[in-house]
Amino acid sequence: MTAPTLPGLEPAAPTPVAVPRPGSRAARMALPRSVDVLKEIAAEYGVCVRPLAMRRTDLDTGLTEVIDLPCGATREDKCAPCAKKNRRLRQAQIREGWHRDDEPLPPPEPATEEQKALILFRAHLEFSRDEAIRAAEWGQVEELDEGIREVEEAITAEGLRGRVGPPHAGVDEDADDDTGRRRKRSTKRRQDAPELPRRKVERRTVGRTYTAADGTTYRPSMWLTLTLDSYGPVRPDGTPVNPDRYDYRRAAWDAVHFPRLLDRFWQNLRRCEGWNVQYAGCVEPQRRLAPHAHFAIRGTIPRDTLRTVAAATYHQVWWPAVDVQQYTADRPPVWDEDAAAWVDPDTHQPLTTWTEALDAIDDNPHAEPVHVVRFGTQVDARGVMPGTTDAERTIRYVTKYITKHTGDVHKATTDRQRKHLDRLWRELRVTPCTDRCANWLLYGVQPKKAHAKLKPGRCKGKVHQRDTLGIGGRRILISRDWSGKTLSDHKHDVRAWVRALLGTTTDSGAADNTRQLVDDQGDTVERVRHAWELARPDDPDVGPLSHRLMRSISERARWRSELLAAKDRAAQGSTDLSATQHNARHDGEEGDSGRGFDHRAGRGPDQHE
Ligand SMILES: [Zn+2]
Ligand SMILES: [Zn+2]
Repeated sequence: MTAPTLPGLEPAAPTPVAVPRPGSRAARMALPRSVDVLKEIAAEYGVCVRPLAMRRTDLDTGLTEVIDLPCGATREDKCAPCAKKNRRLRQAQIREGWHRDDEPLPPPEPATEEQKALILFRAHLEFSRDEAIRAAEWGQVEELDEGIREVEEAITAEGLRGRVGPPHAGVDEDADDDTGRRRKRSTKRRQDAPELPRRKVERRTVGRTYTAADGTTYRPSMWLTLTLDSYGPVRPDGTPVNPDRYDYRRAAWDAVHFPRLLDRFWQNLRRCEGWNVQYAGCVEPQRRLAPHAHFAIRGTIPRDTLRTVAAATYHQVWWPAVDVQQYTADRPPVWDEDAAAWVDPDTHQPLTTWTEALDAIDDNPHAEPVHVVRFGTQVDARGVMPGTTDAERTIRYVTKYITKHTGDVHKATTDRQRKHLDRLWRELRVTPCTDRCANWLLYGVQPKKAHAKLKPGRCKGKVHQRDTLGIGGRRILISRDWSGKTLSDHKHDVRAWVRALLGTTTDSGAADNTRQLVDDQGDTVERVRHAWELARPDDPDVGPLSHRLMRSISERARWRSELLAAKDRAAQGSTDLSATQHNARHDGEEGDSGRGFDHRAGRGPDQHE
């Protein structure tokens, strides 16, 4: 206990670690804020901390209920519980597809009432979004976009294939450029690439089985890491030995076009191997801040083949030259309303249009691509046997960073590292991201579909942002016939298992509100007659976030103990441990916090956190 000191009478002597006077402001500030604790507990229980409130009206009774949908964020800093849930689903997805020995073929089914209701709901959201845009309620638009994404996942989980409509600008993560109709261009160039054998690609996606002398069969799979080329020697901390000679320009362009290079690799590999090779993996920054990619591959491929294909694979970028930066963000070209074109600020001459620039490339028999991306010589590949701890460890490794922003994977902690990041970023800021990038204006070229609103040199594209390190697109890459399921399907599996275990069809897990949307009872239950709309945060029945969180936590806690009891009963009874149960134990949202939950089940070969 410290005796209270009167103000002005504190001893001048050096106060050791100052314990704030009880009751003082400092003491109060040292106490944890209850709202923070609430969020912490929510995270422990896997309850979304920024739920989206939806109002559901029963059309028969007129009863209205506000239901929280999880936000579905994939990054920890937005919502840790949702990000973790997402990671576990990814792990399940990788695990299921990796060693499967039959071809994944999703069965088509007729549309159910539930599916129709979802599509209708999706339509309502579309309408509200349009209204919100007209009213310039951007916060609302953002929320609706989240809602749309969630509903589309639910739609997929309901077994409908394809997208209801194209994504709205700003919603789509891929920000895929639309090089679409490619111009016919000379293929005479780049004959220095080694020739690859070409075979007809079979529809098979499953690897070969090997039989040992004792009759045991093995179906090994692979693990592959692909890296980019060297831009100059680096130290163990990832920074260049000689920053002035490090090729930042090439590093930036390579990072931006890395996804294309990976696409080419899989194309080439399939052609070379003659079967439809499947993969699941992710793109992460290395310590030197260049992207690399890890993949689980189904089946085995000789290491030599992987190396040869990697060495032979390249991606040419046929864009206008960027040797001379004619303008800067401070002295940019200007938009001329009459000419409907970007013009030089002094001469008022229009800049070269995109079409003119590409025509010039086509007409020049000696034209070279402005950039060629290739892999580095480091290609790591090894075999992994199904069901081993090695396989599980690998899956965890693949998904380790997916809840983090690219920029947060390797934090710059020293001056050298900060400078390295700065230099790379400076280059990325002026690297064109797509054919519509506003940065083209710096090089005296009007991008494709140029318009008055472009900000020369200040393109908003993701790759130009400091924390993306030029890795602007999707970081999780999963081939189409990997598990035959989408992420939402895996989510659905987990729920189906939980329901089966509890032996109920009721809403015992009401905290997980998407259940309301994806209930698969179809026509065996009474038809769904609900209207959905987005609740506004200031609606009186929505209630403060803290109240909603507390409700969800309490529901989740009760649900969890109910599930535990059911699991214990199941452990004593049936010995049938289905594959879905295996997944759910590791990946289900009910396993979120650990808390001894996993271990209570006490079954299965692998125990992890
Ligand atoms: Zn969330
Ligand atoms: Zn751009």
